[in-house]
Amino acid sequence: MADFIVGLTGGIGSGKTTVANLFLDFGIELVDADIIARKVVAKGSQGLCEIKEHFGSEVIDSNGLLDRAKLRSRVFDNEKERQWLNNLLHPLIRNHMLKAVEVAKSPYVIMIVPLLFENGLDSLVNTTLVVDIPPHEQITRTAKRDGVTSTEVEKILNRQISRELRLTKADTVLDNTLPPEELRKTVQLLHLKYLAQASSA
Ligand code: ADP
Repeated sequence: MADFIVGLTGGIGSGKTTVANLFLDFGIELVDADIIARKVVAKGSQGLCEIKEHFGSEVIDSNGLLDRAKLRSRVFDNEKERQWLNNLLHPLIRNHMLKAVEVAKSPYVIMIVPLLFENGLDSLVNTTLVVDIPPHEQITRTAKRDGVTSTEVEKILNRQISRELRLTKADTVLDNTLPPEELRKTVQLLHLKYLAQASSA
């Protein structure tokens, strides 16, 4: 089990995946909240079963998978239903993430959580690392990566905490306007720092 957890976060398109993969290159295991969030509602999961019981089979598609669009429309304007769903999913996600940390074999793990501060998951980690780029750069990179419009990216951006607040909460900020080779070197230095912190934890 890894006893030291680095919470990696940042706004959409800031470079969380890119940075996490650099840590992976140094042999550090990743625990990805987005992947786990999909797992807890996968076909046959306890999460999906409870969602079906609560919302009815209309939120399940013909393949037995969660129909995310239908579920979103059911909770969209309904605070009570949204609360119910969060109360179901958040503990499931939290437990799965902690289980993944328990089986990790690297000296520390990188937990990638896009909404780390928004969902209070920073309480689970030993230190936080925020990947940061200016908003105009977030919009350009995300629009290019996902083939979506700037307006669509801006909408998502506005639902996340502000850049200022995220930076205030960060233990460490990684400037991802750096070119790839510089970024790799910076991650290597952080890796050495986390190795030292993990061994004294
Ligand atoms: P996130 O996981 O935070 O949404 P990604 O890691 O997917 O962000 O990065 C968003 C986009 O920006 C990707 O297309 C990625 O290749 C690109 N990118 C990441 N880091 C850099 C960088 N330092 N310079 C230029 N482009 C980058």
